[in-house]
Amino acid sequence: MPFFSNASLHSLCPFGGVVSVYKLITEGTFVQKIHESSFVLLAIVIVLSILFGSVFCGFVCPFGSVQEWIGKLGKIIFKKRFNKFIPSKYDKYFRYFRYVVLLWVVYITAKTGTLVFANIDPYHALFTFWTGEVAIQALIFLIVVIILSFIIERPFCKYFCPLGAFVGLFNLIRIFKIKRNPSYCISCKKCNSVCPMNIDVHSKEVINDPQCVTCLQCSSEISCPVENTIVFETRRGIKNENKY
Ligand code: SF4
Ligand code: SF4
Repeated sequence: MPFFSNASLHSLCPFGGVVSVYKLITEGTFVQKIHESSFVLLAIVIVLSILFGSVFCGFVCPFGSVQEWIGKLGKIIFKKRFNKFIPSKYDKYFRYFRYVVLLWVVYITAKTGTLVFANIDPYHALFTFWTGEVAIQALIFLIVVIILSFIIERPFCKYFCPLGAFVGLFNLIRIFKIKRNPSYCISCKKCNSVCPMNIDVHSKEVINDPQCVTCLQCSSEISCPVENTIVFETRRGIKNENKY
């Protein structure tokens, strides 16, 4: 397709739409290297996110997949210690850093009119490192993310990704929610142990944490051993009769 064969990686990334919105509204122009496709993709991501939350992170983002594949090797090497190296008392504060990155990127891009994040973006570096247009700091950051992915599941998603920070906020208002039925639950905590984002699923009835990537690993279809305990649910309430 001529449209795709001529498009740069930036034009195929919905985050280009996020950082360009300010410039488009105020000046009616795009940030350099961004064009209409980023806004079309952003609109699709927003509609998907309003319906299903952060499904882009769990099912579409190729950089999330790469981290997951490396994490599978990490699980083999570190077994139960994998994804538990950072104590939660520090980890919960580190998770706010991606909002700092989001605000910084949007502000600087709006001010300078250039794609400032591309200079450190490991996602961009991974998929274009052979082109010679990748900044050295982006390559170094990519190597750091790859190394971290051996000990932490999805480190870039958890601590750095500005698009994940933006998309994750829709988990708070999504229409199709992930819900846990406490009256069916047998407290085995398998949902907690499979969650790549270390969310305490077992203590929640509605999993609306902005860190959730909607991978559905915790669901009764995949990991929870009790049928219909963790499900996609649109009704406000959830059945509360005891199964056991
Ligand atoms: S995996 Fe299912 S049954 Fe086990 S603690 Fe989680 S919700 Fe309860
Ligand atoms: S395992 Fe469940 S709570 Fe954890 S990220 Fe995936 S969908 Fe969200």
